[in-house]
Amino acid sequence: MKIEDRFLNYVKFDTQSDENSTSTPSTMKQKKLAAYLVNELHEMGIKNAVMNEFGEVYARLEANCPGMDRIGFIAHMDTSPDASGADIHPRIVHDYDGADIWLNESVVLSPKEYDNLLNHLHEDLIVTDGTTLLGADDKAGIAIIMNFVETLLSHPNMLHGDIGIAFTCDEEVGRGAENFDFDTFGCDYAYTVDGGDIHVIAYENFNAYEAIVNIQGKSIHPGSAKGKMINAALVGIEFNQCLNPLETPQTTSGYEGFHHLVDFHGQCEQAVLTYILRDHDESKLMKKIEDFKIVEEYLNKKYGYEMIHIDFVEQYKNMRSYIEKDMRCVEKAQRALNQCSLDYYTEAIRGGTDGAVLTYQGLNCPNLGTGGENFHGKYEYVSIQNMEKMVEVLLNIVSE
Ligand SMILES: [Zn+2]
Repeated sequence: MKIEDRFLNYVKFDTQSDENSTSTPSTMKQKKLAAYLVNELHEMGIKNAVMNEFGEVYARLEANCPGMDRIGFIAHMDTSPDASGADIHPRIVHDYDGADIWLNESVVLSPKEYDNLLNHLHEDLIVTDGTTLLGADDKAGIAIIMNFVETLLSHPNMLHGDIGIAFTCDEEVGRGAENFDFDTFGCDYAYTVDGGDIHVIAYENFNAYEAIVNIQGKSIHPGSAKGKMINAALVGIEFNQCLNPLETPQTTSGYEGFHHLVDFHGQCEQAVLTYILRDHDESKLMKKIEDFKIVEEYLNKKYGYEMIHIDFVEQYKNMRSYIEKDMRCVEKAQRALNQCSLDYYTEAIRGGTDGAVLTYQGLNCPNLGTGGENFHGKYEYVSIQNMEKMVEVLLNIVSE
């Protein structure tokens, strides 16, 4: 099947995940796509394809050549809660000429704003109608993996080792690796096919903590508050003002870490500030935690009681230090890109990936691109030729 047809079939499914849900998967509609993919794999001849109780899809291609690495490929089925993923009306812009693309009468996708468009001149781009996201993140990854599987099955002379396929749920709400079934997957290493630029092999991401700052104020009727009231919400503002303003997402890039206030609610009696702390360098992240503790101590001393208590929760780690112990997965990907005449470069992800979580659980898992851009919103698009190229890259990865 042509990769664009496959992709356009997948984006018909609304698979938006929900960060406020406690069920697994977070939205049951993800299972509809999972069932469709299992069926598609069965029709291709992969009878072992299954959906498990968590809505995850697993499938295996048996090796046709002994002694080769067991390699896995992973993509996620859900789309971001940041924008609607229902009733997507995609459109193909053929032979893109570098001009503005009007998604509808009032929404324009312009290279002046999104200069990544200029990397895709003369390619065919799938865009939205300006009202929803597209879902290239990560249905482009699924389409690439499916066409890769189809190509292998129709070319039995292509030699490969065991290949594991996994399509996961809830990546966008940080729960994609929660129930990962390593035994069924059964691979030496794997790749998430979930990035943008197809030249990038990413095996470095943030170390991540959450800091929950609990503030206990002293509430009293404002009419008789003089000298007695301590307003927790105001102390929350004071707490934030003690932090370095040059260490925020809006003031950092590349390898610079940050603290980011993601939620603040409170009144006079109580206030809670939730921050995420991020840094590629673990020791620098520990320094950020130390800074928070210094502010905690300072304010507790200033107000004369234990008014602030901070809980620190580790969220994920940088996969680099794990992957560096066995670089086979990165070297294979580098060679595979070169074989397709693509330069490669590495990029430190300013976030986390499911692959990072899998990596420190023992399955090295760098991230590869899909040819999609501007994820999580209405300006999202994907290049059909880039998706096709990535099918070739995956084929090169599994062949010796
Ligand atoms: Zn993604």
